[in-house]
Amino acid sequence: MTALKPVRGTHDILPAERRRHRRVAETARAIAERYGFHEIATPIFEFSEVFRRTLGDTSDIVTKEMYTFTDRGGEAITLRPEYTAGIARAFISGGMHQDLPLKFFAAGPMFRYERPQKGRFRQFHQIDAEILGVAEAQADVEIIALGVHILSELGVLARTRLELNTLGDAPSRADYREALVGYFAAHRGALSEDSIARLERNPLRILDSKDRGDREIVAAAPAIADFLNQASADKFAAVREGLEQLGIAYRINPRLVRGLDYYAHTAFEFVTEALGAQGAVIAGGRYDGLIETMGGPPTPGIGWAGGIERLALLTGEPPAPPRPIAVVPVEPAAAEAALTVAAELRHAGFVIEHGYRGNLSKRLRRADKLGARVAIVLGEDELSRGSAAVRDLDTGAQKEVALAALAEHLAPYRDADAANDEGAA
Ligand code: ATP
Ligand code: MG
Repeated sequence: MTALKPVRGTHDILPAERRRHRRVAETARAIAERYGFHEIATPIFEFSEVFRRTLGDTSDIVTKEMYTFTDRGGEAITLRPEYTAGIARAFISGGMHQDLPLKFFAAGPMFRYERPQKGRFRQFHQIDAEILGVAEAQADVEIIALGVHILSELGVLARTRLELNTLGDAPSRADYREALVGYFAAHRGALSEDSIARLERNPLRILDSKDRGDREIVAAAPAIADFLNQASADKFAAVREGLEQLGIAYRINPRLVRGLDYYAHTAFEFVTEALGAQGAVIAGGRYDGLIETMGGPPTPGIGWAGGIERLALLTGEPPAPPRPIAVVPVEPAAAEAALTVAAELRHAGFVIEHGYRGNLSKRLRRADKLGARVAIVLGEDELSRGSAAVRDLDTGAQKEVALAALAEHLAPYRDADAANDEGAA
């Protein structure tokens, strides 16, 4: 029965990998809070229009990658392929323009019909940060600094590189666009079919093409820097100065454009060489026109999204799960006491494994396999004295401890691994 396999491009995230993902999401969430971002959760599906109108009908996402279906009420629905459009929609439908500026953090699953490979899936997960209502370069600097801080906290900053570009304002982009159309039209015969389609509608997007032939042509294309008007150039200079002031290293990449229609001014990506072709771990930019395009009040915005799977691949070994304390009844008569001891210690904050069956040695073997650090052995003799044998499984040292004093005695073992266990992502 093929239905018993996960759908191509989707995965069961087993506990060890899930811990890695959680570390990425929770680290990002905690750092984002320090920067004044508040978490938002938008629906996993939206009306297809939300994405079609904002991402543009020439984007890869809209033309090839959306999971769209008609629901039972006849509505065209799309599983979200990215966060920004949904968050902008939430901003408009929630009438939040009185509350600007707003800073949102989010983390959750995304869906794109892509060709699955390392670091590229059909269901994947993103962390996301957005600042709404701030046109000043300060927001660009802050959101990039947040990305740097998260990568640094995850221990992967040294293996990434920040690439930066500007797309300028609308008049600069119009001039640039004209130059690009002229250039690409002269190379039309060598362009991929997708890029020929983009030529009329969105030539900037050709710069983002992954087609090898396109890339050769793109390498010699005009650069936006030569088409920026003064206001756009000044704005970009302010962003660069802010980054320099904070000691954030970057490289200007004149070919860097974001794949989506609503970007303007700053565009950036944190890329790595460590993941093969799937090099972008965090990508973002400014989208000052988006909210207005969607029918909301003109509201500047800037944000980024990071791929949790790609970041988790870079972070390496997941933190170890907390080492439990094993409660081990020696004979069946002790089972009742074991139940109570386990319940009390769990309420007191300990991680307790309660062996379900088997004799003493079988239960101790299981405790060992689970990495337990301590076993509380409940034997008839000790129980008759209202106590238990507490065995340190690392040293073998054993001590008789009154049941009433167990929590106090075990205090040094409580939550020693709490740092690895910070709630669900
Ligand atoms: P790529 O160039 O790799 O296709 P993209 O430009 O489509 O990326 P964005 O839309 O900017 O990616 O998404 C932000 C981040 O989400 C990417 O930098 C990447 O880390 C991650 N990401 C995007 N698509 C996938 C996917 N299919 N599987 C896993 N992670 C992804
Ligand atoms: Mg893509």
